[in-house]
Amino acid sequence: MTDYLPSASSRQRVTFAESQKFSFCTTWFDKVADQDRKYIVNIFVDTKEIEIMDVGRKQAFLKRCPYPELDMTKFYLGNSVVIHGRQHNIVEFANEYTKKALSSAQERTCAIVKPHAYGANPNIFKDLLRELHKNQLAVSRLQLSQLTPQDAAQFYAEHVSKPFYPSLQQMITSGPALIIELVGDQAVQKWRNIIGPTDPRQALPQHLRSKYGISVTENAFHGSATPQEAEREIQIAFQLRPLCAPEHSRTAVIVIEPTFKAQYGDILSHLFTQINQVSGLVVSGIHSADPVAADIDELFKAYQGVIPNWRSYCDAFDDGVCIAIELTGSNDVIQNARNIVGPFDPEIAKLLKPQSVRAVFGKDCVQNAVFVTDIAEEAEIHSDFWFRCAE
Ligand code: GDP
Repeated sequence: MTDYLPSASSRQRVTFAESQKFSFCTTWFDKVADQDRKYIVNIFVDTKEIEIMDVGRKQAFLKRCPYPELDMTKFYLGNSVVIHGRQHNIVEFANEYTKKALSSAQERTCAIVKPHAYGANPNIFKDLLRELHKNQLAVSRLQLSQLTPQDAAQFYAEHVSKPFYPSLQQMITSGPALIIELVGDQAVQKWRNIIGPTDPRQALPQHLRSKYGISVTENAFHGSATPQEAEREIQIAFQLRPLCAPEHSRTAVIVIEPTFKAQYGDILSHLFTQINQVSGLVVSGIHSADPVAADIDELFKAYQGVIPNWRSYCDAFDDGVCIAIELTGSNDVIQNARNIVGPFDPEIAKLLKPQSVRAVFGKDCVQNAVFVTDIAEEAEIHSDFWFRCAE
């Protein structure tokens, strides 16, 4: 099965010896007490066992026990993992051994699809994600944002005094840019190898810049130069506001289920192709978010009793990073979005709307690939949740 997240073995690049134990500091938000509780989660990789210590109470919270669903690809800093129904946010490695063994496999880089390339060709997502998959790089966050001249000067600080800077600034602030955080072994170098040299004329056919670059300035993609630069750029880029439609405009939100991460590229390409065919319909936002289970339940409350298998459907959306796409612009944006997504049940979608996203990608009524706003009263709540409040 294809999967854009690297497999556990490749991503960690470590040999799992007998009784190998990795330890992580995690937090779980205790809604009743209204505070974060701290834990140490110990993972016994070879025996697929888990143990959780309660840091505050200085005692075992969960004694060492089998953990058959262990998936080491989910254990990276910043991610959250559901363990026995609780969402643990992984905030730090708990010891030097774990840090040394895992941190090089978790290098991050800042990739950007520059404004002139974003939206120019829906296949750009397919090409980009295919390359990431081949190189075992994972998308850990993405968002659509527009840089101001001040943002550009901060991001490209080292180039501000160079003669080409005015054209660089003009290009990078000229429209929405898709900002992507990539994680994986040697992510910085691998992404640079994927996009190729700064001047697209010097790029080889396999480089993305040769296909989508127009000139040295309009070379379609950004990639961090070093791991240190990557950390600096990620900090700047993900502090920008995700673009979304102005409040009170008519919107609909489509959210890709995290279990479909292997097909993010194909689903995005399919969506963009269909959206482009509806006159007046525009993508006003793209934003990834990893909401906690309780928030998903609250968000989907209006659909309780309406959606079949409501509980399982909510659970499917709290299993990792979700990608949300906000649509606006047309008079009947919700109806247009529903037409693109198709009927809730993929089997019915195949019969009635064979080109719809659920017909093409959905598996059943829980894994139906995407959620879509289908009640006008909910539209503002969805836009607020995924674009104005979500982290
Ligand atoms: P990168 O790491 O390959 O993106 O290259 P740099 O960090 O050196 O430059 C940042 C961006 O500035 C490039 O991606 C180009 O868009 C632009 N740029 C760099 N060098 C030149 C140049 O000599 N002329 C022009 N017009 N633009 C340049």
